[in-house]
Amino acid sequence: MLAINQPTIADADDAVLRPTHLTIDLAILAANYKAIAAHVGRPVMLILKANAYGHGMIPVAQQMEAIGTPWFGVAYLEEGIMLRQAGITAPILVLGGIAGNQIRHFIAHDLTLTASSIEKLNQIEDTAGAMGKQAHVHLKIDTGMERIGVHYYSARSLLAHSLTCQHTIIDGIYSHFANADAADLTHARLQLARFNDVLAFYDEVGAVRPTVHMANSGAILQLPEAWFDMVRPGLLAYGVYPDGVPQTIPVHPALSWQSQVVYFKVVRPHHPVSYGSAWQADEMTRIVTIPVGYGDGYSRRMSGMAEVLIRGKRYPVVGRICMDQMMVNIGWDTAYNGDPVTLLGCDGDEAITVSQLADWSDTITWELLTSINTRVPRIYVNEIEH
Ligand SMILES: *Cc1c(COP(=O)(O)O)cnc(C)c1O
Repeated sequence: MLAINQPTIADADDAVLRPTHLTIDLAILAANYKAIAAHVGRPVMLILKANAYGHGMIPVAQQMEAIGTPWFGVAYLEEGIMLRQAGITAPILVLGGIAGNQIRHFIAHDLTLTASSIEKLNQIEDTAGAMGKQAHVHLKIDTGMERIGVHYYSARSLLAHSLTCQHTIIDGIYSHFANADAADLTHARLQLARFNDVLAFYDEVGAVRPTVHMANSGAILQLPEAWFDMVRPGLLAYGVYPDGVPQTIPVHPALSWQSQVVYFKVVRPHHPVSYGSAWQADEMTRIVTIPVGYGDGYSRRMSGMAEVLIRGKRYPVVGRICMDQMMVNIGWDTAYNGDPVTLLGCDGDEAITVSQLADWSDTITWELLTSINTRVPRIYVNEIEH
């Protein structure tokens, strides 16, 4: 068991001092990856951006490299460098746009760049030449997201130019869906058709087509035509389905969030609880305090909606969620200091899902996972040795 984001205290007898922590099951992550790879029958680029969707980028990358994940994807240069410094040797694609002064750092750390213009490609080419190295690039085509990438209708000159590079290896070409998790796939299919049209260039000029990839989690589940040579799951690899899409690949959530009761009291009627005195009981009730709050990423917007699990039962969080603590109404039930509290995950027959937490905080599952901040220690279990 490896815990991160903890002070080093020589005489501590527990790996984690704080009663609030995330548990990340590495065996579940490995099984999710294998389920996706088996379903699509082609290589998987595991997306590790934003601290691996809150799961902890480095421990996740180390486990996933050990079981043979062929590619990783991150958003920013710094994330790629951190992976290299942690000893990750698999190819890493940085999905975000690049600033000119970053190029030499990409090349020095053997990170694959995303290029979307002839100008950027020339800068990469010049920098690689000057360093006496080869740069690795994936071309990015914008087929309808309007984020980064050369527009599909002006991509051909970039593709033609890319064939002339001396110091730059064009390993891949990709695009990204804006609506692959939607019930109506009209726009996704339009993006796919535009991308196929761009890819026809390679056949037309008789050039070798580099590795093609487009499918995020939504497209992996809904659009097999978009799987091409590799897929790029983020959310799905962490065991969470985009809302509303068919759950056709057996993946399971790898992350759970636990805390403990730190305080128990009986509260009299009309004695309001927490800041703003926004909630009070009409009858005598038992209230427990949990050492977790919005300063950990347990959003204050969930005040009045969130529930937690104690002794296998659901109980409401009452009053406003504070920065570091919150109160739970257990009615006339029993709970003791030290009792485990589940904020996310299962306890007995009950479960609180990422979707539920996202609903309560009025956001999407992607944001919910990436909002659990680094103050919460991560504990890794079921590491698979290789
Ligand atoms: C984040 C991201 C992904 C993964 O998206 P999910 O919906 O989490 O699967 C794939 N490709 C790109 C370019 C991304 O930015």
